[in-house]
Amino acid sequence: MSDLDEQEKLVLDSVARFLERHVRPVASKLEHEDAYPHEIVARMKEMGLFGAIIPQELGGLGLRPSTYARIIELISEEWMSVSGILNSHLIMARIVDKMGTPEQRQRFLPQFATGELRGGLALTEPDCGTDLQAIRTVARRDGDDYIINGTKTWISNGIEGSCFALLVKTNPAAEPRHHGMAMFIAEKGPGFTVSRKLEKLGYKGIDSAELVFTDYRIPANRLIGGVEGKGLACAIAGLELGRVNVAARGVGVAKRALDEAVRYSQQRKTFGKFIHEHQAIALKLADMAVRVEAARLLTEKAARALDRGDRSDYEAGMAKLFATEAAVENSLEAMRIHGGYGYSKEFVVERLYRDAPLLVIGEGTNEIQRLVIAKRLIEKNPI
Ligand SMILES: Cc1cc2nc3c(=O)[nH]c(=O)nc-3n(C[C@H](O)[C@H](O)[C@H](O)COP(=O)(O)OP(=O)(O)OC[C@H]3O[C@@H](n4cnc5c(N)ncnc54)[C@H](O)[C@@H]3O)c2cc1C
Repeated sequence: MSDLDEQEKLVLDSVARFLERHVRPVASKLEHEDAYPHEIVARMKEMGLFGAIIPQELGGLGLRPSTYARIIELISEEWMSVSGILNSHLIMARIVDKMGTPEQRQRFLPQFATGELRGGLALTEPDCGTDLQAIRTVARRDGDDYIINGTKTWISNGIEGSCFALLVKTNPAAEPRHHGMAMFIAEKGPGFTVSRKLEKLGYKGIDSAELVFTDYRIPANRLIGGVEGKGLACAIAGLELGRVNVAARGVGVAKRALDEAVRYSQQRKTFGKFIHEHQAIALKLADMAVRVEAARLLTEKAARALDRGDRSDYEAGMAKLFATEAAVENSLEAMRIHGGYGYSKEFVVERLYRDAPLLVIGEGTNEIQRLVIAKRLIEKNPI
């Protein structure tokens, strides 16, 4: 990326050094143990990464989304779970930045930027994920407070985090349904409990949890934007960044799978030749490389639209769809190229293969991305 300014170059260089020194040596061990990477998080705090896209005047690094996407790609090449610790936290920060009142921005964004107050996004419930307007968590006004009851599930950073952008219904009977939705900045406290840690195929090390709200009392000044009815708009504001995040993770995973395959194919010999000299393997490598390049270009295009503040659902949908499918395909191909070793925990490709499928589900499933793309296609091309 040629248009990076000096500060952005410095940040990317320091992220690359940090990954090489502090993440690569420990990623496989921590992932296999499903252990939260406390030391890595402490270093990311020192580097200011929890404030990556928070404006500088509020204590953040003020990076453009396209630069942030490059950081996420680099991190995901090493260990995708680490990107998740940042991603959902910064989605929450973006929602407060774009939709919060001036007081909420002043109060929370500096604390988010240092990483002292960390957390994520709480949308999904046991009975609904894609159909967000079907949520059942309810906030009822009580004087200067609201009282919240309900359950959220699959919440990233749910155990280690302490603050969440929480989607609720203030009027479950409203029609259209989103008029009765709101989002709160909810800090842990009485009535807000973690009921369980969820066990997963991959994406280990980062905590995914079920959160339960039982008569959880929250001051009305934590209602994002200060008025009811904006909950879905808040979620959409966050997911704009989320889709680019996930696309960038896809690029990182697909790239690492390619790198591992390119290296291994020059080490392993069968029938007297390195395996890359067999045309069947060479064709796979070529397809994998094309996927990485195309995924990166689409992701960069979507991130640039966010940089400009343009509507980006079409571009972000394409980037998310293509890059995450690229991660799934490349991780499987890397495993095949590694033969039996690809199935071994001693090689990184088995982790890539377990991590990649999450990407086609999170931040709007790929089925939904296709529907978004098709809808915009028709809107853009009326007859
Ligand atoms: C590891 C992990 C971390 C997560 N982190 C978070 C988090 O931090 N915060 C959070 O809020 N959520 C989080 N989620 C939840 C995630 O966002 C949801 O799982 C996702 O949105 C899908 O919702 P669902 O699981 O309820 O699937 P459903 O909505 O039940 O969908 C099931 C299937 O039906 C398809 N489908 C649904 N509706 C349609 C339609 N209209 N047309 C076509 N196909 C359709 C879907 O594409 C999918 O294939 C996480 C999930 C995982 C696994």
